[in-house]
Amino acid sequence: MISQEVHRLGAFSSILDPSANAPAFKDADRKIVASFNDRVALRKLAQETNLLSYEFENIPAEILQELESDYEIPQGVQPLLDSQDRLREKENARNNGLKTTEYIAIEPNDQESLRQAIDKFGYPAILKTRTLGYDGHGQVIIKKESDLPKTKDLLQVPCILEKFLNFDYECSLILVRSVQTTIHFPIAQNIHKDGILDLSIVPCPHLSEALNNRIINDCSKFMERCGYYGILAIELFVKGEDYYFNEMAPRPHNSGHYTMDGCSTNQFRELSRFLLGQELETPKLIVPTIMKNILGEDLESLNDLPKNENISIHLYGKEERRPKRKMGHINFLNLTLEDYHKYYAKYFKN
Ligand code: AMP
Repeated sequence: MISQEVHRLGAFSSILDPSANAPAFKDADRKIVASFNDRVALRKLAQETNLLSYEFENIPAEILQELESDYEIPQGVQPLLDSQDRLREKENARNNGLKTTEYIAIEPNDQESLRQAIDKFGYPAILKTRTLGYDGHGQVIIKKESDLPKTKDLLQVPCILEKFLNFDYECSLILVRSVQTTIHFPIAQNIHKDGILDLSIVPCPHLSEALNNRIINDCSKFMERCGYYGILAIELFVKGEDYYFNEMAPRPHNSGHYTMDGCSTNQFRELSRFLLGQELETPKLIVPTIMKNILGEDLESLNDLPKNENISIHLYGKEERRPKRKMGHINFLNLTLEDYHKYYAKYFKN
C-alpha cells in the first residue's frame, strides 16, 4: 500500500522481505528476498534507493543504526527501538508526558517476583513478553492463583506484569510529523476479539470533544518531546475522561486502514509524502467508517456480502490462509454500528 502511494507521488519502491511471495512485492518496482537481519542485503537495498523506511516493528534496530550513518532513514531508528521493548516503550511514554497502566518488569523464570507483583496489583493482571508480542501472542491473563502455572512458558524470557485496567473502551490515534507540521487522523475506537483487532469505528462513538482534543494535543507533544518524525500509531485505553498509553508503532497501523476509504487522504499517502519531503495534507473524515478485519476463517463470508459502493473490500494477497491470520479488511461506509451487527449476523459465519 505504501508502494501504491509512492507511485502516485512519482517515486519508485524497492522492498525487502524474507518471503518470496510477500504481498508487498506485488506493487514493488524492485524486490530483495532476504532475512531482516541480512546486513549485506539491507546495504544493497539502501544502495539502490534514496532513502530507507520500515513498516514492521521487529527489524533489528542495531542493524538500522549501522546503516543510519551512511544512508538516509527519515523516520530515524529511535521510534523503532523504543517500540520494540514494552518496558522501554512504557517508560519512554511516562517520561514524555503520557500516563500508562501500572507495570513491573519481571526477569526470566523469576516466579517469586511475579508473585510479589501480583500481590501488589491483585487479580486479574496481565503478563506480557517484553519483545515480539503481537495479536494476543506473548501474553497471558492471570485471573486467579491457579493460573500461575500458565505463566511458566512465557516467563522463559523477560516480561512485564501489568495491572489489569477495566477500561471503558480502546482507541488509537495516528499522527505524521514532519519538520514543518504534525497532522493526525481521526481517533478510532478499536474492538478486539481474542486479542486480535476486529473493528475500528470512526468517529470514535463515546469520545468527548474535550478528551479528543487532549489526546491529540498530548500525543503531538509526545512526538515532539521524543524527537520522532514520520508516522506513529498510538494505542490507548479510555476510562471516563482519563486515558492511558498502551503501546505504539512507528508504521502504518491496522486501526488506520479505515483511512483508505473514510478520509480525504490515507495513512500510507501521508507517510509517503513525509518520506519524499512533500507537504503533508490535513486529513478530514469524509464518511463515518467501520473497518472490519478479514481473518482466514472469514474469507468465505465475503462471497455472500452484497456488492455496493458502501462496502469496500481490500485483500492483501497473502498466499497462505490460516485461521486468525489477517488476510484483508472491509471498510463499511456510512453504516451505523447497529446495522453493521445486522450485516455481521446475516453474512458472517464465525
Ligand atoms: P497489547 O498487546 O498490549 O495491545 O494487548 C492486547 C490487548 O489486551 C489490548 O488491546 C487490550 O484489549 C488487552 N489489554 C492489554 N493490556 C491490558 C491491561 N493492562 N488491562 C486491560 N486490558 C489489557
